[in-house]
Amino acid sequence: MKRFECRTAQPGFAAGQAFVIPSGQTGEYRPGTPEEEAARLEKAAEAMNRQLKAAQAQGASVDTALIDAEMMILNGDEFLGAARRSILGEDLSAPDAVTHAADKLCEMFSESGTDYIRERCEDIRGLASALNAQITGNDSEIPSEPFILVGSELSPGQILMTGTGSIRGILTETGSPTSHVSVLAGNLGIPYLFGLKDLPEKVQDRDYLILDGDDGTVCVDPPEETIREAEKRQAEVLQALEAQRTLAAGEKTRTIICANISRAEEADNLLEAGADGIGLFRSELLFLNSEQPPSEEEQFLAYRHAAEAMKGRNVVIRTMDIGSDKHAAWLSMPEEINPALGLRGLRVSLEHKELFRTQLRALLRAAVHGSIQIMVPMVASVWELDEIQEEIRIAEEELKQRDVPYRIPELGVMIETPAAVMIAPALAQKARFFSIGTNDLTQYTLAVDREARGMDRYFDPLHEAVLRMISLTVEAAHQKQIPVAVCGELAGDPRAVEQLIRIGVDELSVSAAKLSRVRSQAAEAEEKLAEEAKSKK
Ligand code: PEP
Ligand code: MG
Repeated sequence: MKRFECRTAQPGFAAGQAFVIPSGQTGEYRPGTPEEEAARLEKAAEAMNRQLKAAQAQGASVDTALIDAEMMILNGDEFLGAARRSILGEDLSAPDAVTHAADKLCEMFSESGTDYIRERCEDIRGLASALNAQITGNDSEIPSEPFILVGSELSPGQILMTGTGSIRGILTETGSPTSHVSVLAGNLGIPYLFGLKDLPEKVQDRDYLILDGDDGTVCVDPPEETIREAEKRQAEVLQALEAQRTLAAGEKTRTIICANISRAEEADNLLEAGADGIGLFRSELLFLNSEQPPSEEEQFLAYRHAAEAMKGRNVVIRTMDIGSDKHAAWLSMPEEINPALGLRGLRVSLEHKELFRTQLRALLRAAVHGSIQIMVPMVASVWELDEIQEEIRIAEEELKQRDVPYRIPELGVMIETPAAVMIAPALAQKARFFSIGTNDLTQYTLAVDREARGMDRYFDPLHEAVLRMISLTVEAAHQKQIPVAVCGELAGDPRAVEQLIRIGVDELSVSAAKLSRVRSQAAEAEEKLAEEAKSKK
């Protein structure tokens, strides 16, 4: 038996046989004429597009936006187009042309200042290796038994194409906790380990593996006795997962379980998926994915769409959280050495008032069509909230003059700076609710860049300091009788749900794929707390 240290991107336990997806070309490849190579490339790309679309059609349990992103890269001129040009112009074989195009694209991304963009290279390399497997006919047959998916690098599409129901865990050589693969593994509720150096030499197809996401290790080829124990534990894990999945969508918890979305259409299936509302609509995607700022009408339609889809349930729309790693091409921003500490979140709104007022008018108009609430990101001072309220008053005035229907939504504060925690009693007097953004709160409390590579062991949202920040926030809010949500990644972390409920958090807002698991964990935690209270009496 061999045991290797890895890094944990998603916690949990998994055991089973390895299904190794070879990276790129293994064995001999006979290139044809440039025309034949170009035809092979097209055929492989078509097959991949078909498979990706089929994976996308699997529906709610997978994050289909990841596939959209993957197809956009695959079919883009800088990837497929560049590979085609290298075949016809430089006489490269189809697999070499694909690798070359991926290298070039990664080089371009690597020059970008942000780690988030740089990390997209993991996704691109996974995509290139999947495409090359198609070209070389190396796309291995999917095992009929559940397995642990292994690859030097994998793309979300590769994972979805293998059929997510059979994957017990994922292991890769390169990776990061914030890659799309990691997001997907989190949504599927399976462990994901990465960082196993020289993986192809250490793990062979069909080796028996034990992934322990809690201590970050992988065991290869353990003895029979250990396999038996691991199988037993795996069965318990699957049972618990199944119990969560079969939890009746109608089951109620005292804790409100809401969904995080980035696009209005994501609201369409949320009620069926069991969401009590939308706890975080990251509106900035409307601003980042366009050539120019979205118009009032465009925004109004998006916000109204989400409000109507939720049929009267609360829809918390966060005002544009631009800046730091989120760039809008049309907005000129200052050169910043520390953009996470620069012009971002509410600061952009206060410095670009016309832009902000347009968003507020759209929100006030859409609020007539449902239970919209407004939430502002990156608050650090009371005066900022006063200025936001003044902006809302101005937006209202403008709408009054135009004689259009509107409603002033409740205003909430995102607690994601230590300053906001420390002045929470004062903020609670001016806000109708709090929502804790634990991603940024962890970054600013622990002074660790949330996007930085190799810092994940320092970035610990379960750190005592962060948990105390959350407690202080809840205390201050409840003193003023306003509710507190957690909408950062921590809300969906299986290790945190019970703790957050114990602290007194009223709402957890998570990605749609995590709704039923979090609901089930919340129900369990509430039951446990009730029993503890009873036994104390
Ligand atoms: C957070 O910071 O926890 C949060 C929810 O906001 P974002 O991740 O969009 O910054
Ligand atoms: Mg944030």
